[in-house]
Amino acid sequence: MTEPLVALADGTVKQVSPLTGTTVWTVPGRGGRPLEHHDHVRSGAPEGGRDELCAFCWGRMAQTTPEKSRLVVGADGSARTFDEVPASRLHEDCPEVRSFGNLFEIVSARYWRTNHGARPTPHLQERARAYVEEPAGRAQVEALLAARAAAAGEPVPPVRSPVWWQDVVDLFAGSHDVVVARRHLIDGARYGDELAGAGTLGIDEHRRFIAFTVESMRRVYLAQPAARYVAVFQNWLSAAGASFDHLHKQLVAIDEDGPQLARELRLAATDPALYQHAALDVAVRYGLVVARNEHAVAVAGVGHRYPSLEVYSTATAQLPWEHTPEQIAAFADLLHALHAATGAGVPSNEEWHHRPPDAREPMPWRAVLKWRVSTLAGFEGATRINVNTLDPWQVRDRVVQRLVDLRAAGLVAPMAVGDRCEDLVLRYGQEVAR
Ligand SMILES: [Zn+2]
Repeated sequence: MTEPLVALADGTVKQVSPLTGTTVWTVPGRGGRPLEHHDHVRSGAPEGGRDELCAFCWGRMAQTTPEKSRLVVGADGSARTFDEVPASRLHEDCPEVRSFGNLFEIVSARYWRTNHGARPTPHLQERARAYVEEPAGRAQVEALLAARAAAAGEPVPPVRSPVWWQDVVDLFAGSHDVVVARRHLIDGARYGDELAGAGTLGIDEHRRFIAFTVESMRRVYLAQPAARYVAVFQNWLSAAGASFDHLHKQLVAIDEDGPQLARELRLAATDPALYQHAALDVAVRYGLVVARNEHAVAVAGVGHRYPSLEVYSTATAQLPWEHTPEQIAAFADLLHALHAATGAGVPSNEEWHHRPPDAREPMPWRAVLKWRVSTLAGFEGATRINVNTLDPWQVRDRVVQRLVDLRAAGLVAPMAVGDRCEDLVLRYGQEVAR
């Protein structure tokens, strides 16, 4: 194996990811720059209409596709999930999280129908029928179909034709879901750019956001038997690919592993302790452990195109929904802390990885948080060498420093920060030997 991390005499750091083979150089002298840029003139937060800033805002619930599920937290702090709320009752309570299909799917319902023979269940057809029987539901669905047809430059099919009905059912049947958190701006925002990023959520609120996403993911698998994998990710801010500056995650069913997952499955077939060797042992050896709690660990990642942090579940479970609530909460806490340390002004991608349910190779649940603070350019295209502004040690130092302060202020859950953690072991599957 190539040495994953090498520091040269002039300060250049060369990285090669043991998992992906991605090559990254960090050149000295650029790492001290602040991540956030406030070079624009700050405008005040709007006085009214804070719930109508984008199509994911609660004041505009009818502008998303029909809701699949919502989480409502009572005054006593207890949380309940409600599924398939009709259009006329969307505003009867104030959900903390909602899920619905993406209007512009990456992999469409038509794709699954045409290529895999997917058919809507009788329950789904009945749900669609009942939904459009209500005037509010009918108006919502017609507006959505019109918006999508306009974007595609196609006419809307004649109302109540078989093609129209299929399009209606597709709004309920998709396998590309969006999970949206309640706020657009933080509570009490004075400026319009005080966005409610993942790190601004309360500790319990972020735990529920993650647990709700895990359950949504399980449901996408259940609803789409031809899915090989469900990709889960969060794009934060437009520079990271987000359409709206409103906190949301996306879950996309796909029918193959994709090249990276396929590569890791091949590696894991010959080394069942792949992630122990390629990730945690590397993090311990080079002093890159950022934080840990009872069921998860966070490290500065090696060999990513962008400065990155990784969270690994250390549980014996592999699939996210096979984790206990405590294990999911521990995973959520580290992710939350990393977002809080990053800051809501930094564009980022949060990418989840898990074992495809049909695969046999051991693979822990993990997430990668990438800071989108640089742009790939001609040098990267010409050489396949990515130039990064921060090496993993600089990422670790920045985050550890912030986490100590955040922990002292009670803004993140209790956790060990910056230890050397030399006894780190992943326990997924069975006890995987080091
Ligand atoms: Zn919004």
